[in-house]
Amino acid sequence: MPTKSVPTCPQCGGPLKAGAMALCYREEDDRRTCRVVWGCSNQHVWWKWADRPTAELELCPYPDLMNG
Ligand SMILES: [Zn+2]
Repeated sequence: MPTKSVPTCPQCGGPLKAGAMALCYREEDDRRTCRVVWGCSNQHVWWKWADRPTAELELCPYPDLMNG
């Protein structure tokens, strides 16, 4: 299994798993774009723009997204 693309939690260093997709408005280009929510086993929840794989993870203000 390829593992190089598995992101780690910036807060605790644990492996992250992908959760829900959230459609969000992005001011930069004035359109709605999906973010992928990522969570670790310590309940840290992050997200990043789905169309920007190299973008930094940002702290997700809606941790409930990770719980389905
Ligand atoms: Zn964590």
